[in-house]
Amino acid sequence: MSSTITLDAKIPAGPLEDKWNTWLDAHALVGPRNRGSHTVIVVGTGLAGASAAASLAAQGFRVKSFCFQDSARRAHSIAAQGGINAAKDYANEGDSVRRLFVDTIRGGDFRAREANVWRLAQLSANIVDQAVAQGVPFNREYGGALATRSFGGVLVQRTFYSRGQTGQQLLLGAYSALQHQVSAGNAKVYNRHEMLDVVLVDGAARGIIARNLVTGELERHAADAVVLASGGYTNVYYLSTNAMNSNVTAAWRAHKRGALMANPCYTQIHPTCIPQSGEYQSKLTLMSESLRNDGRVWVPRKPRDSRPPAQIPEAERYYFLEERYPAFGNLVPRDVASRAAKIVCDEGLGVGGTGRGVYLDFRDAIASVGRATVAGKYGNLFDMYSRITAEDPYETPMMIYPAPHYAMGGLWVDYELQTTIPGCFAIGEANFSDHGANRLGASAMMQCLADGYFIAPHTVTNHIARQSTKVDERHAAFDETLDEVRGRIDRLMNVGGTTAPQVIHRELGNVMLDKCGMSRDAEGLTHAIERIHEIRDEFWNDVRVDGRPDQLNQSLELAGRVADFIELAEVMCMDALRREESAGGHFREEHQTGDGEALRDDDRFATVTAWEYGGEGGMPVAHEEQLTFDNVKLATRSYK
Ligand SMILES: Cc1cc2nc3c(=O)[nH]c(=O)nc-3n(C[C@H](O)[C@H](O)[C@H](O)COP(=O)(O)OP(=O)(O)OC[C@H]3O[C@@H](n4cnc5c(N)ncnc54)[C@H](O)[C@@H]3O)c2cc1C
Repeated sequence: MSSTITLDAKIPAGPLEDKWNTWLDAHALVGPRNRGSHTVIVVGTGLAGASAAASLAAQGFRVKSFCFQDSARRAHSIAAQGGINAAKDYANEGDSVRRLFVDTIRGGDFRAREANVWRLAQLSANIVDQAVAQGVPFNREYGGALATRSFGGVLVQRTFYSRGQTGQQLLLGAYSALQHQVSAGNAKVYNRHEMLDVVLVDGAARGIIARNLVTGELERHAADAVVLASGGYTNVYYLSTNAMNSNVTAAWRAHKRGALMANPCYTQIHPTCIPQSGEYQSKLTLMSESLRNDGRVWVPRKPRDSRPPAQIPEAERYYFLEERYPAFGNLVPRDVASRAAKIVCDEGLGVGGTGRGVYLDFRDAIASVGRATVAGKYGNLFDMYSRITAEDPYETPMMIYPAPHYAMGGLWVDYELQTTIPGCFAIGEANFSDHGANRLGASAMMQCLADGYFIAPHTVTNHIARQSTKVDERHAAFDETLDEVRGRIDRLMNVGGTTAPQVIHRELGNVMLDKCGMSRDAEGLTHAIERIHEIRDEFWNDVRVDGRPDQLNQSLELAGRVADFIELAEVMCMDALRREESAGGHFREEHQTGDGEALRDDDRFATVTAWEYGGEGGMPVAHEEQLTFDNVKLATRSYK
């Protein structure tokens, strides 16, 4: 397939520190009295979507906000636990925008765009101010100042938090702002609606086709711009820490219409999750990284040591992160901590019934600061752990193991957060933009809210101001796209097979975790691609979709999402195969240093790979954006 796409990141000229202000000074505006005649669709009501919808509506645009949950405030963001980063230096440690920028670039293993990351660091302080103004109850010090703690990969305490429920509190803030606009008449929320396609007119996004999940009706919605804030795709692994409904469909359907998918092989396997307990489990639970502020990670030094942890003397405990990485200890970045846990378990030192677990121990913290202080910081996480495992983490160490958690890859966007479809923007976890090959803890919510409160409202305005035509739902493009959506639903309904979509999804997840998980190699990835083709054939020949399309039908919803996951999985493996280096969460066995760390190849791969859809059954086409590092020096990451 030949392609004419060129990737222009549209990074403003001038010094890094001034780029965003330069852009803001020059962007096109829509006058206050004209904004009400323009409609913006925002798909997603998580932190990115709710904040963007609220901000655009507050500016005076007509906003249509979509989510598949029964309430906007039940978006997956509500599950975020540990905190949100901001370069405010409340801990008086000499933190700064530059340090947050450098930590993020380095944490992402030098695979993110400098200009975007600088802007993220620059806006971080505004986010916390905005949230405080909304009444978000951040933890505070005794004197009233906002409290902060550390997350992995940094040597300062810049993470603001609301105990272990920071996502919930931030989302309630954004949701309240959105509801305020709903009651002001500027925004309308369409709950229980699933976007199934984006409608293009003259190559630009002018609306969506959504399915009303309660009635099954297919609806047309026209707009002047479409913002996708539909979250990440980590449920491609079937078992992950994400909400069970999180999926790739919105992004994938846009991809099939021309939005490139960037760096899909970069997924984050989070080191601290409750280990899987059985084959029929459908969900994994995260234990926030914040716990590594006070918890110490260890395994017994003796292989297959079955003694209870309390009976293992200090000298026989292997604090492998502290020993391997003395500078950062338990707070190394996630990719590093996960790999280290895998290595000790591969060596037979793992604990628990399966041998795939390591301890996260609070004994020393409780002895030092007391149980009440530990409970004040992490109480709800401890409660969650004991409800799931029936063990008391105040008395016995938690048992944890890495699990799929976050998608660094996503829709390719330029500096304006616009995809390769004009008028189609992607924000939050749905885009690829700021985290390179590995996201640092507490940086996801920062990016979602920077995108939603402070960037998209301006870049979407800029797009609308430059667009002269109006389109409504009577345009023929809506009929055509709706027919295609209906055809796909009919195809799913008509397979008439015997296997439930969940079963095929689990099969796919097993392949992905095994061959495209914490470590990968060429042979395994090649094999995975073959298996994915078999799974795709099995799906389209044997999937069983119950019920009818014109009614509430969760079987149909799931089948559509699994079909998209299968297509995504193939591109993830192709991307992982093509990237012949190790970087961050992408660890290729063939490319490692003598002591088992990731070995990058900056000459060949200081790039973003953005994939173009190759048509049904066709080969996806890889495009490259070269990354340049003028403000940080490319160096081997070391946390030792
Ligand atoms: C357990 C857990 C803990 C975490 N803790 C932290 C933390 O402490 N700090 C941090 O920074 N990050 C954390 N993260 C990561 C962070 O929560 C996410 O990256 C972030 O919340 C994603 O927000 P989002 O707005 O991009 O998408 P989401 O919150 O996933 O929202 C997606 C929205 O899109 C809608 N949607 C999707 N597809 C469609 C469709 N086809 N049609 C209509 N609507 C659709 C959904 O209904 C939903 O409203 C955590 C993640 C997990 C899983």
